[in-house]
Parts: sequence; structure tokens; C-alpha cells
Amino acid sequence: EANIHLFVRIARLGARYILLLAEDRTESYRLDDVRRDFVANISHELKTPIGAVGLLAEALQAASDDPDTVRRFAQRLTKESERLARITQEIIELSRLQAADALSKPDVVEIDHVVTLAVDQNRVAAESHRIEIARGGDKHAEVYGDESLLAVALHNLVANAIQYSPEGSRIGIGVNNSDGIVEIAVTDQGIGIPEEDRDRVFERFYRIDPARSRHTGGSGLGLSIVKHVAQNHGGDVRVWSQPGNGSTFTIRLPEASRAPVSPPAIATLK
Ligand code: ADP
Repeated sequence: EANIHLFVRIARLGARYILLLAEDRTESYRLDDVRRDFVANISHELKTPIGAVGLLAEALQAASDDPDTVRRFAQRLTKESERLARITQEIIELSRLQAADALSKPDVVEIDHVVTLAVDQNRVAAESHRIEIARGGDKHAEVYGDESLLAVALHNLVANAIQYSPEGSRIGIGVNNSDGIVEIAVTDQGIGIPEEDRDRVFERFYRIDPARSRHTGGSGLGLSIVKHVAQNHGGDVRVWSQPGNGSTFTIRLPEASRAPVSPPAIATLK
């Protein structure tokens, strides 16, 4: 019964998402293509964990008199349901961003606070991989926008930096405020991104071969959320990388005093 509820929720979410996608179609990218891509992507992403949940539930019933097997299956069930929850959460965030009222109540946001939120949320993951996070730069930079969305974006960059870096490496988060532009840079010493994938990593569901890293549970939505948050704030996100030596992602946003006071006309970078 839980499975049916899940399917219904995902189907509803899917319908809402298709409507939102339909809004940002371009002339060269027709609605039908968008729909087809979305359905193919979402079914691919959700089929594996949903299938696994069903099989594990069946196996659990069959193995009910062997406590060790039951524990093992139950642990895997927990993992698969966590993955489903994460993907669902990311789809919800992306939908929220694409809705017109995403920045309905913009306010002055202290970037130092956003960095603190992102670092705190990733502390346990960083410690478990003995990864040190160093922060530096301007402590007083302010932008105009939605603090929780900016925190999600920076969280995604820091989480990726941890996921795609070796044990014992360092991550740097730097803030620079000059010429009316606030730049937040997240640098890692990880596996890096091949040149041919650098533009595509910001696409929805795009993942480079998952086998190349210890991180296999991703959805490929994290960076497209970062891109949408940056764009909704009149900014952008860029990546520099040297495969094997690490990557730097930068989010650039208009400084608060340069952004107009009322939405939706948030300032845009030139
Ligand atoms: P995922 O859930 O797969 O991490 P993202 O949209 O966050 O999805 O990232 C897309 C792809 O970009 C990832 O699958 C990964 O291959 C690559 N990537 C993202 N961040 C980094 C990084 N800091 N170092 C190396 N590769 C990265």
C-alpha cells in the first residue's frame, strides 16, 4: 500500500513538473521533446529504487524467520527509500525554483551566513571522509534574494566537492566582493570534470559515469538546482576544472546595493 501511495505522489509530482517545464521551453526545443525527455529521465531515475523497494519487501516476507537476513534486507530498504526521498526532494526544489513566485519575498542576505549554513549541513559528511573545509574572503558581502534557496545552492556545491574528492583532501570556500559582484567560489582537490562534460553537468539529470567516484547515489539534479538559483538571483554559475586535480565552481550574484528593491526585476549580471 505504501508503494501505491509513493507512485501516486510521484505521478502528481511528475504532472506538475511537466507543466513547469512547459513554461520554459524555447522555440527550438518543442514541448513534446521536453515531455518525452522528462518522462524518460524520471522513469529511469525512479525505476531502479522503486523496483528494489518492491523486491526487498517481497524478500523480507520470505525471509521472516532468519533475523540476519531480515536485518540485511531492512538496511537496504532504508537505503533505497532514502535515495527515493532525496530524488523527490530535489525534484520539488527544482519545481519550486521554476515557479514564478520563487523569489516572491526577497530580502538582504548575508553571504557569510549562507556559507555557515552550507558548511554546517556538510560537517558530518566532511568529517567522515576526513575532509577539511577552509573558508575565507569577504565577511560582509550581501546580496538581494532568498536565503534558503541560496543555502540550498551552496550546500549542493559543497556536498559535491565532498562526494567527488579523496579522503583527507581540502575544500576551500572563498567570498569576493568587488565591482558590484559577489562571487562565492568552492574549490576542491577531487577527481575533476573532463572538458567535454563541463557545460553539460548543469543540465537536469546529467551525470558523468557514476562508476568514476565513490558517490553512486546521486540524481544529477544538484547542479541544475544551483544554476536555477543563480539565474533567479540575476547571476550565474561557472566551473573550472583540471581532471585529476580538482574543480572550482563559482556562483556570481549582483551585490545587494546594486540589485533593485522590488521583485521580479532582480538585477542581471552583464
Ligand atoms: P549528482 O547528483 O550526480 O552529484 P549533480 O548535478 O550535482 O548531480 O552533478 C552532475 C555531475 O557533475 C555529477 O554526476 C558529477 O559527475 C559531476 N560533478 C559535480 N560536482 C563535481 C565536483 N566537485 N568534482 C567532480 N565532478 C563533479
